[in-house]
Amino acid sequence: MDLNGMAAAVYLRKSRAEDGLSVEEVLSRHREALERYAAEQGICIVETYPEVASGESLYARPKMLKLLEDVEAGKFDCVLCMDMDRLSRGSMRDQGMVLDAFKASGTLIVTPEKVYDLTDEADEEYAELKTFMSRREYKIINKRLRRGLQQSIADGCYVANAPYGYRRAFVGRKPTLEIYEPEAKFVRMMFELYAAGYGCVSVARQVNALGARPHRTREFSRNSVKKILDNPVYIGKVVWNQKSHIRKGVKHVTVYNPKEKWLIVDALHPAIVSRELWDKVQSIAGGRYSPSKNDGTVKSPLAGLLLCENCGGHMQRLTFAKGGSYLICMRPGCCASAKYELLEERILGTLAEMLRGMTLNLSRTEPEANTALEIALESVRAELAAAEQAKARLYDLVEAGAYSVEEFRGRMHHAKARITELERRETEARRALEHAEHRDVARRAAAIQTVLEEYPSQDIPGKNALLKSVISCIWYTKAKKTKPADFHLRVLLK
Ligand SMILES: [Zn+2]
Repeated sequence: MDLNGMAAAVYLRKSRAEDGLSVEEVLSRHREALERYAAEQGICIVETYPEVASGESLYARPKMLKLLEDVEAGKFDCVLCMDMDRLSRGSMRDQGMVLDAFKASGTLIVTPEKVYDLTDEADEEYAELKTFMSRREYKIINKRLRRGLQQSIADGCYVANAPYGYRRAFVGRKPTLEIYEPEAKFVRMMFELYAAGYGCVSVARQVNALGARPHRTREFSRNSVKKILDNPVYIGKVVWNQKSHIRKGVKHVTVYNPKEKWLIVDALHPAIVSRELWDKVQSIAGGRYSPSKNDGTVKSPLAGLLLCENCGGHMQRLTFAKGGSYLICMRPGCCASAKYELLEERILGTLAEMLRGMTLNLSRTEPEANTALEIALESVRAELAAAEQAKARLYDLVEAGAYSVEEFRGRMHHAKARITELERRETEARRALEHAEHRDVARRAAAIQTVLEEYPSQDIPGKNALLKSVISCIWYTKAKKTKPADFHLRVLLK
């Protein structure tokens, strides 16, 4: 096929078979090879899509998604890549999407080995076969890789990124960790402070003040300190199966597995803290509360509803190991915490109270202030009062002899007509206002009533959804050292 003068995109991606080389190395090598090939064929490279992300799913490959968009828009005559499986690795569905985009736009797939024109039946079949084969091969490689990973873990190698306090190292060819003293000293400090009775917030504050900086955030928080205190890596262990990756629609979410599912083995790397200190910290932590972990489900009916009035942050739920949940502001020293049950009870109570207020309003038909209609009504009433006064003044004026009887009659007629007109307008404005308020109040009242009726019979996600159907947010405040129920809530309805 003559490719001379074609506008092309280049898609670059490292494959599993090229492990051992860095992504940059592989991509630059491929880029060179494809540019050489393009020059030989007279192909004009318009754009390059280098994939640095390593995900298998399409959604984990941002450059691929961008390329597909451009291919669908018919931006190129062809796409250059090293081989077919660079484009179409992933699930069968992903592969189908990729091939369809090329076929529909008539864009060629050009590899140094073969040119594919998917509008040609033979080529299409061949492409499908190739991607099918690469998928099989991928599965085999993946299985082998996992087995290798499990073997490494069993051998006590450390295969993930280095945790705080360590750096990656090798013993022979086995990956492991070495102590990185500038961080390790803070790890020891955290364990020692916690063992001495300080809480995670206070420990975080103290190490932050001494200049400790975590890897990915600006400063240590209660949660990041807790994670370090929980991590057996610091007594020279490797933990396997700490997290799972689940799929939620197109999103991939990392969740923490319960500790019973962890696989903890002795590792090659040195410990930072002693077993004795570790055990002491664990026994203290066992009696204290711990943040509820994200396992992808709604754990609390109040999830996402409560905000701290002080700092605007989301309130988080913490659960004591001995039982009992609290909602606290994650900003150290901000608001005092409150017991979960008290909050739930108060929120339901507040809703019930709001409902009572609304039904009362509905029966009383006395409108509440503050709409445009309300302002209109007020101004009509003011005009009416002025007209009544003017009418009353006419009697005084005629008594004082300012008008003749004819004049008085004429003016009186005029004043009465004006009052009738204003009265009509007043009634109209009042009805419009009552109507608007009634409709709104009645709708809200019905929604709240449903929430209160259904709430007890629902499971946790159901309760959360019910509350969110009527409440937009709840502002929370509680001063330090006040009684458990001395918090203040501002429930904002939708
Ligand atoms: Zn706060």
